[in-house]
Amino acid sequence: MEGHPAEQLLRLAKEKGLQVTDQEFAKYLDDNDEMGHIRKQFHIPRVCELLEESKEVDGPAKGVDPNKECVYFAGQSLGLQPIETKELVDAEMEKWRKRGQYGRNTGERPWVPIEDTVLEQSGILVGAKNPSLEVAIMNGLTINIHIGLTAFYQPTATRHKILIEDGVFPSDFYSVQSQIQLHGYDPATSVVIVKPREGEETLRTEDIVAKIMEEGDSIALVYIPGIQFLTGQAFDIKTITEAAHAKGCYMGTDLAHAIGNIELHLSDWGVDFAIWCNYKYVCASPAGISGFFLHEKHAYNFDLPRMVGWWAHKRETRFVMDNCLDLQPGAAGFTMTTTPTLETVTLIASLNIFKQFDMKTFRKKSRLLTGYYELLLKNLSPEQQQEGDQEPQAKKKKTTATVHVVTPSDPEQRGCCLAVRFSCSGDEICKKMLERGIAMQCHRGIVRTTPTPLYNTFSDVLHVYNTLLDVLGDIQ
Ligand SMILES: *Cc1c(COP(=O)(O)O)cnc(C)c1O
Repeated sequence: MEGHPAEQLLRLAKEKGLQVTDQEFAKYLDDNDEMGHIRKQFHIPRVCELLEESKEVDGPAKGVDPNKECVYFAGQSLGLQPIETKELVDAEMEKWRKRGQYGRNTGERPWVPIEDTVLEQSGILVGAKNPSLEVAIMNGLTINIHIGLTAFYQPTATRHKILIEDGVFPSDFYSVQSQIQLHGYDPATSVVIVKPREGEETLRTEDIVAKIMEEGDSIALVYIPGIQFLTGQAFDIKTITEAAHAKGCYMGTDLAHAIGNIELHLSDWGVDFAIWCNYKYVCASPAGISGFFLHEKHAYNFDLPRMVGWWAHKRETRFVMDNCLDLQPGAAGFTMTTTPTLETVTLIASLNIFKQFDMKTFRKKSRLLTGYYELLLKNLSPEQQQEGDQEPQAKKKKTTATVHVVTPSDPEQRGCCLAVRFSCSGDEICKKMLERGIAMQCHRGIVRTTPTPLYNTFSDVLHVYNTLLDVLGDIQ
């Protein structure tokens, strides 16, 4: 491949006769960014807007211009709003106002088959070869977790376990736990957890595979996310799926932090089911509509257990309402309720942005942007400086605070987010950064900091670095 982005960047800076910490270098990277025009399609909050009614801070720090655009490094939590979103929502509000029930079948986007407008592009993001059969847009994420588990967790006395990773998100954990209990099994004996090795913070694929090989005969379902929500580690879903299938287990994956972030090929990988939300990297509305993938190989298996509602009934005869169920094949056969119009149009608006580039171009920027950020973070902390690094250490303020990047350095094992641990309080860092117009998020001592390729720039990254330098200097 192209090699590590850090090497690429150092080489480039050398060619230009610049330091990676030079404003001019960040500007050069921005000027050559193939995706630079995308940022203009988002509302970038100003600092004063970001801090309005803030529960975290009293206001901008001294010397910070409240009217300048903030640097939003919190896309892993909630994506920013595309400019088109309001337009599309307003159009449906107007249609409802003017046409009442007749809006269901009229206009550019009739409400009844509105899910059709988002399947193809959602399919591109998750790598579904046959999106109209494999993808459904429905419900909230946790509901879809339960729908996937209901279909693919069919425990027997000898095969009753679910394999998860150690840091699994609470909602996923509770879903797994309660599904096991619903089937009359005990989570204490039916949950298998893969943990990082002693002294390590992320998982090794080989350890996940080894666990599957070891306990696979009693495992019903392997349930590993596309990207770990806290550490930002991307898992090798292809290899894990192969191992799961080799042992006769189903494979399910939560893509909450992977969709709109890394390239996914669910159909090719043979993943049995996947679920995701669209409000993080996809930038649809807060808590908006979520997604469900069912591999084509299961599309005509009408015996897969499910909770059924009228939306799963074939479209042509759904409104006959004779209570003779005729299930739609594929993922659509798992939809239950009328697709919510407003949530779906917010998804249309964000998918319209993703339509403007392919995921290869997106990832190319992402690797470089996060690679640049990582390089600067290493520059901040002498501890992480590796032999052979050519950049001089941070010169501005002397700081003994250390910065440790938890996320793997291998670009194949991460998306755009870097999870960072500071030697001082992460909450304190987040607060001070917010006062300076930079949005980040701290959980359990880990600060998630995310340069997203859609709306963050290389200059944003440099600004975050310079601000961190100041903030860490102050903390001394
Ligand atoms: C964000 C996230 C959720 C949130 O679930 P909701 O049902 O949307 O509240 C669940 N699981 C993971 C892994 C997440 O990252």
